[in-house]
Amino acid sequence: MMSLAKSALIVVDIQTDFLPGGALACYQADSILKGVKDLVDAQYFDYHIATQDWHPAHHISFASQHEGKKAFDTISLYGHPQVLWPDHCIKGTVGAALDPTINWDNMDLILRKGCHPQVDSYSAFQENFNQKGERPTTGLAGYLKEKEVKNVYTVGLARDVCVLWTAQGAKEQGFNTFLIWDLCAPVTPDHDEITRQLCQEHGIQIIHVADIRY
Ligand SMILES: [Zn+2]
Repeated sequence: MMSLAKSALIVVDIQTDFLPGGALACYQADSILKGVKDLVDAQYFDYHIATQDWHPAHHISFASQHEGKKAFDTISLYGHPQVLWPDHCIKGTVGAALDPTINWDNMDLILRKGCHPQVDSYSAFQENFNQKGERPTTGLAGYLKEKEVKNVYTVGLARDVCVLWTAQGAKEQGFNTFLIWDLCAPVTPDHDEITRQLCQEHGIQIIHVADIRY
């Protein structure tokens, strides 16, 4: 149904801590693994990119770093809302490892994000706001544009946070952007409705894996 010319798949944060039993397990996250594995194995897209949340031990996004705060509280950070998370995806730990279900050897690029101790990064394209009120880019848009990618497909974890922000980032950078709904899992299904609304508002096309004939 869709032209395959210069398309990229971005597999977001399929890591131990976001899977069942992990520090920040997404809702029914293991249900997407087989589908993502098969899609990656098919090598259907021109480029395959993965992201890996990769935080220093005392990352600003951890509730443990904020006196009197608990996980899932929201604070104002540099003038913008920031959700505080359980300690997760600490670089070099088992929790930060990419899940072995997926064949990561099939990736053209694995992009680590959230590496700065004082800045979070949900999107694969841009960090969250920093102390200077800026959102530094990761360089991914340039990478894709140099390769003449026009269509960007997003899957992974979490649908309501890093996948959504990555899709928004792709759209803002001018890519035709697709979110493959059933190859994503949310932090909480309570956010499904707002996620759908935000996709619609931002011009992100929600599709299902069955829509992709591979
Ligand atoms: Zn994180």
